[in-house]
Amino acid sequence: MAHVRKQMISFFLSTRCNLRCIYCYTHKNQNLKKEHQSLDFNFSKRGIDDFFRDNASRHIRFYGIGEPTLEFELMKKIKNYAYKKADNLLTVELQTNGFFSEKVAKWIAKNVNILWVSCDGPAEVHDIQRPTATKKPTSEIVERNLKYFSKQKSMQAGARVTLTPPIMKRQSEIVGYFHSIGIKYINVLPAFAPIDDNSSTVFEWDPIEFAKNFLIAHKKAKKLGVWYNTMCIVNFDEKTRHACRACTPNPHLTTDGYVSCCDFTQLGSEYSPGPLQQLIYGKYIPEKDIIVYDEKAVANVRSRCVENLKKKTCSDCKYIYNCAGGCLGQVVNETGDILGKCEKNCEIVRYLAERMELNKKLHPAFHS
Ligand code: SF4
Ligand code: SF4
Ligand code: SF4
Repeated sequence: MAHVRKQMISFFLSTRCNLRCIYCYTHKNQNLKKEHQSLDFNFSKRGIDDFFRDNASRHIRFYGIGEPTLEFELMKKIKNYAYKKADNLLTVELQTNGFFSEKVAKWIAKNVNILWVSCDGPAEVHDIQRPTATKKPTSEIVERNLKYFSKQKSMQAGARVTLTPPIMKRQSEIVGYFHSIGIKYINVLPAFAPIDDNSSTVFEWDPIEFAKNFLIAHKKAKKLGVWYNTMCIVNFDEKTRHACRACTPNPHLTTDGYVSCCDFTQLGSEYSPGPLQQLIYGKYIPEKDIIVYDEKAVANVRSRCVENLKKKTCSDCKYIYNCAGGCLGQVVNETGDILGKCEKNCEIVRYLAERMELNKKLHPAFHS
């Protein structure tokens, strides 16, 4: 299913995190005002009302600049409010670092339909890349929770893996690890460089090395009944005008009261000025309890469609309807241009599109 079919409202619940991953690109170190560290519940309710009014989807998702389960009570309140509004049609998705108690895990098993746990594979890799704030290992608890979720029949539980140069060639091994603990869905992405600091070597990876090893791991996973996915192939199963929900757009509510269209823009201009502000298209006015939408910003993100990309950036690309320009957030982060492209991703798309089936069979799951 083209990735744009994944229509949903996302809630960035918290700016705080209990982990300190080596590639974290979020802005948690900034001096955020206290009132901007957690999502406002009234804003969340207004966001749900507007989204359910304007979109047939009843899919909600919890994510964040920090770890969403650190706002556990707020997550429960938002879920309950959405459930009342959507009746039995509600789909709940959570993207989390998986470092939480058994009590939290039990609530998730009961209330979440689609779960993505960030885990980078076997303990010796995961613990280097994803330690706690006090530099303690996290793999034991994350693995315990993943094993528990893999046994829940009512839930699609998957792993979200960030690949750094030392593990780029170990993708097959990573598939084997997740298969051994019962996980059937894996999304991998090489580490994205933040716009303001790309000095770390974890962001220096070769696209063809990634693509080659991805393909080997994808084939191995298929034999094992595991879905091994990455952003560059999300539209290989179906032609599309837009790469992602971000371009239609879909709301992502920020802790400082803005509506963003994308996971990449997690705060308004006070904290994160620059080109990513193009992806903000609404602002909550608490005194009036309304969200004011910016039509110009909506038109701007919608302009990232194949018709416009064909005229300019992607004119010579034969895979345009199975890529549609790729991840909007990454492009704006790296080029500043709504109609730009990331050359590294083009190399990956071309390498994989030449070797994988296009438009034959729908993927079994959406990307996270
Ligand atoms: S869990 Fe997410 S937000 Fe927290 S440090 Fe890791 S990458 Fe950053
Ligand atoms: S040129 Fe690159 S970004 Fe554009 S459609 Fe082709 S692969 Fe995608
Ligand atoms: S980060 Fe990329 S895939 Fe995610 S919402 Fe933004 S454009 Fe879509």
